[in-house]
Amino acid sequence: MHQSIDLEALCAERGLRITEQRRVIARVLSEAEDHPDVEQLHRRAAEIDPKISIATVYRTVRLFEDAGILDRHDFGDGRSRYEATPEAHHDHLIDVETGRVVEFVDPELEALQRQIAEKLGYRLVDHRMELYGVRLDRED
Ligand SMILES: [Zn+2]
Repeated sequence: MHQSIDLEALCAERGLRITEQRRVIARVLSEAEDHPDVEQLHRRAAEIDPKISIATVYRTVRLFEDAGILDRHDFGDGRSRYEATPEAHHDHLIDVETGRVVEFVDPELEALQRQIAEKLGYRLVDHRMELYGVRLDRED
């Protein structure tokens, strides 16, 4: 599911001014296969350019989010997590013990959500689905 998305190219498409530091942050986000928070992003960006401050990372994710090219998630631990807005929709399952995020797509679930919206008199245009679980083989 993690087809990497070229955030830098999307910035150009949306007419966002791309500075060198924004380019680094865009690259880190494009290459991320997890759903990093700002501190993780900052650590990765600083490995490439140690001059990048956490404030710059905060500002840049806000900018990308406002431009609609970055999705922010709250997976229940109070930290915002980020991923490049995917081209194809997916949902998330969060391992509550490890914080690991598993992506999934389930056509039956998608159809059911549409039906629920229709029953309520709506055409579904978006949804968020987060499942929280512990691994079956780790339960006592
Ligand atoms: Zn995801």
